[in-house]
Amino acid sequence: MTKTISVKNFINGHFERNGQESMDVISPIDGSTIADLPLSSYDDVDKAVKAAKEAFPAWSGKTLKERVQVFFKYRSLLEQHKDELTKLVQLENGKTYGEAEAEVLKSMELCEFAVSMPQIVVNEIQEVSRGVECRIERKPLGVVASITPFNFPNMVPHWTMPNAIVLGNTMVMKPSEIVPLSTMRMAELLKEAGLPDGVFNIVNGGKEVVEAICDHPGIEAVSFVGSTKVAKIVYRRATSNLKRCVALGGAKNHLLVLPDANPDMTASNVVASMSGCAGQRCMAASVMVGVDKIQHIIDKMVEEAKNIVPGENLGSVITAGAKERIERYIDEAEKGGAKILVDGRNTTVPGKEGGFYVGPTIIDYVTPDMAVAKEEIFGPVISIIHAKTLDEAIQIENASNYGNAAAVFTQSGKMAKYVMERASAGMVGVNIGVPVPREPFSFGGWNESKFGVGDITGRSSIEFWTQNKKTTTKWNPEDQINWMS
Ligand code: NAD
Repeated sequence: MTKTISVKNFINGHFERNGQESMDVISPIDGSTIADLPLSSYDDVDKAVKAAKEAFPAWSGKTLKERVQVFFKYRSLLEQHKDELTKLVQLENGKTYGEAEAEVLKSMELCEFAVSMPQIVVNEIQEVSRGVECRIERKPLGVVASITPFNFPNMVPHWTMPNAIVLGNTMVMKPSEIVPLSTMRMAELLKEAGLPDGVFNIVNGGKEVVEAICDHPGIEAVSFVGSTKVAKIVYRRATSNLKRCVALGGAKNHLLVLPDANPDMTASNVVASMSGCAGQRCMAASVMVGVDKIQHIIDKMVEEAKNIVPGENLGSVITAGAKERIERYIDEAEKGGAKILVDGRNTTVPGKEGGFYVGPTIIDYVTPDMAVAKEEIFGPVISIIHAKTLDEAIQIENASNYGNAAAVFTQSGKMAKYVMERASAGMVGVNIGVPVPREPFSFGGWNESKFGVGDITGRSSIEFWTQNKKTTTKWNPEDQINWMS
């Protein structure tokens, strides 16, 4: 039995808890209560904003080269504590050790990009006419906020925190109330790395905290990652309060499989994409559109799925409610006439009967009007739709409200290019099931998968976390000569 952890807010460099109402944090691995989380209010957000505001002048007054020093140290602390951080992600999120470790490694890579900022963020200066110079400098915004989801407790907070802070902002973070522990540990390691008090703050809780962040006049910019439903709420509320906002939402990623695709590579990529992190990735394959004759690839996918063992190489889904929702989608598809080739319903893991597991599920003969073809399921489930032509497959992909990722599997460069140009998605893969752009490239979808200008990571994030100061100077060269002589 794991000892229950008391989750605390982190304000001005100190952990605190003020008798707020609380909720239990449950480990999805076995259903046990692992922590107790405070449901903070506007006043708690206000306190965090005040601390961040107070820390801003000194932090933003340092040079970029000085600020990145903290993150060299922090990155090495992530490496030093990799095993412990990996186990923490596993405990609160339920993913496998390998998946959780990959998250921590990605967080380290995100810090590597942040410490490279002095090489990238070089200000501009030009003599626009004799004696007249225009100069552009990137300046931080002030206090900024980051609101994160449950599915990557360690990595998604690192999409925003290192870049925003290295660029001179101070931050209030609101982690998912379902997985608050990784963020708490992040605060401890940042302090150990030498980050001054007040530069990074955490306020725990639910929607009240999010609403307070969107409303608080002291916060200049809000970044959000989560479902499309909440992304819309946050984007509308934050921008109506005149804040800068980028809000990443949900996904329904389509993989287009052509008959000439390499069968082994395609089957293993598609199955890994739909089942990795138990399908709880905004980059997970959710619909496979098979063009013409692809039965040989489907047969291999079924074989491949048999090697996936819940509780061993497949983690849990996040809550009992998520398990119910995913199984309801499978039930409905079956009732609607689809054929369940691999069925992950009613899965239990011996010794972890209280955990929330869904086995890999492959559903064939899905039609584009079914809920499993249109809605985000967020579980280890793939729906197969059959198309006669590549254009029909592209039309199916284009019709989705979402547009995070899309991929094509083919050995023809011409066909791949055809899909690359026509897919309605922000991130496109060719023979890659999870086409995540790595730094310095940026991460972000299209359509209802993202609201706001620019992306959340990479070079694009520099625009989001800074504002340009334009200075024009005029000198009289002759005056200078007179003074000098
Ligand atoms: P969620 O939208 O339920 O929660 C995200 C955050 O919003 C949490 O911090 C939560 O406390 C808060 N929140 C929840 N309901 C709210 C409300 N009514 N008003 C204000 N705030 C509210 O998302 P989740 O279930 O934690 O995460 C899974 C979702 O995130 C999936 O849809 C997934 O596709 C998406 N996601 C997207 C990306 C991306 O890059 N596009 C990345 C990761 C996850």
